[in-house]
Amino acid sequence: MGDKERGYTVCRNGKLKKGIEVKGDAHSVSIPINCPAGSKPAALMHTHPSGSLQLSPRDIKTMHEKGLPVCVKVGNKIKCYRPGVTKK
Ligand SMILES: [Zn+2]
Repeated sequence: MGDKERGYTVCRNGKLKKGIEVKGDAHSVSIPINCPAGSKPAALMHTHPSGSLQLSPRDIKTMHEKGLPVCVKVGNKIKCYRPGVTKK
């Protein structure tokens, strides 16, 4: 389909708010953790053009490095993974 991965930080300031959306290439996206003043990053959301809801090895690395939940969005489905929770 030639789609690019897209991602953004989910920021929390009382309620959840979508941060700036960035585009990556077909296989990865580097999401800057950038929340408006007064809000904190709550999770990293990104799409998988491949259609897989599984985290890639790189996603897992990012999740542990940033210490933030990483969510994968495919169509209407969203699956979130949290650091420290063992995944199959
Ligand atoms: Zn990914």
